[in-house]
Amino acid sequence: MFFKSFLIKYGEIGIKGKNRYLFEDALVKQIRHALKHVEGEFTVRKEQGRIFAESQGDFDFEEAVEALQRVFGIVGICPVLECDDLPVEELAVTAIDYMNEVYPEGEYTFKVNARRTRKSYPMDSMELNSFLGEKILDAFPKTSVDVHNPQILLNVEIRERIYIYSKIIPGPGGMPVGTNGKCMLLLSGGIDSPVAGYMIAKRGVKLDAVYFHAPPYTSERAKQKVIDLARIVSRYSGPINLHVVNFTDIQLAIYEKCPHEELTIIMRRYMMRIAEHFAVATKSAGLITGESIGQVASQTIQSLAATNEVCTLPVFRPLIAFDKQDIVDIALKIGTYDTSIQPYEDCCTIFVAKHPVTKPNRNIIRRDEEKLALVIEELLQKAIETTETIWIEEER
Ligand code: ATP
Ligand code: MG
Repeated sequence: MFFKSFLIKYGEIGIKGKNRYLFEDALVKQIRHALKHVEGEFTVRKEQGRIFAESQGDFDFEEAVEALQRVFGIVGICPVLECDDLPVEELAVTAIDYMNEVYPEGEYTFKVNARRTRKSYPMDSMELNSFLGEKILDAFPKTSVDVHNPQILLNVEIRERIYIYSKIIPGPGGMPVGTNGKCMLLLSGGIDSPVAGYMIAKRGVKLDAVYFHAPPYTSERAKQKVIDLARIVSRYSGPINLHVVNFTDIQLAIYEKCPHEELTIIMRRYMMRIAEHFAVATKSAGLITGESIGQVASQTIQSLAATNEVCTLPVFRPLIAFDKQDIVDIALKIGTYDTSIQPYEDCCTIFVAKHPVTKPNRNIIRRDEEKLALVIEELLQKAIETTETIWIEEER
């Protein structure tokens, strides 16, 4: 195989000093983790502000690139030809081999961009640019040099070793997971919440998740769907601890004791309270939901305010200003959409009122919640105690 290594490019703006080391170390860790699932053996190392992922033998190129494209923090993936120190003539032969292999059509404009950090190398960058440029022109007569807008920018870096690359495959951007703490995602089987989790993980936040299950009103297949979604999200975010809360008794109590037009709001408030309980217990610093203004009755500004007020942790709603189609586009891109649209009921659809309040008055909601006073503490306790926690990790 021609390429054995990747040079990983990452965004550096705004990360300086100590933060930069944390960023790089987290990125190395995430790259190792992602490549663990790829056919082949890799070593990942940090060297002078660069990260290299190097294969020990044959590997599946496409699969490796795909895995790296899921690692937040990476902005570019460059398949790189790495060689030991070479005298200039041999370097030219190697550069020609490279061009021949990567651009066999032999017809393009190009520019050589040499960088010499090892000052003992016999030619400096400018000399290398013209020397290698001429050699390539001689080898491929249909090419020409364009210094302003070349089709191919051939990078040649003279460090301890020598690195040749030109292709930059885009990475996902964002920040490496683990650089910005952990949050608890309220994960339903819908389209929105997996996308919300993905977006927050992209900012470097590790995820745990909580799902409210209401058997027998919601089926085992609905639960399996949420597990499947968590697994897809974990391909980007890394492993997720998914808490499956048995929510049936609480829902039934609300249904029995509270006004039906307030069911959804009161139910959402208990979801938030329980999610916060698990967040605090497992050291998550915030909650994440897939809510978006006005999408449904429980997502008007007044409804959001009513569900928000029961939490003390910050609640992150990355989709708050997104149109449904924009959310669907991301769901398609990250691969959650097909699973999300499987037709298994979620617990909210069974207990929805015909005319839910759209502008809940918080004083009234608080007052109506009082109707649960005699039973709720015990029900909450039981829901928490019977919660099943599932470790979700990407499968090979
Ligand atoms: P989604 O597509 O994420 O299900 P939705 O548009 O169906 O969202 P709602 O049902 O109002 O909206 O839920 C709003 C948010 O509340 C969800 O995005 C999710 O974060 C959370 N949520 C709703 N139902 C559940 C559940 N059964 N378990 C965990 N979280 C839930
Ligand atoms: Mg939903």
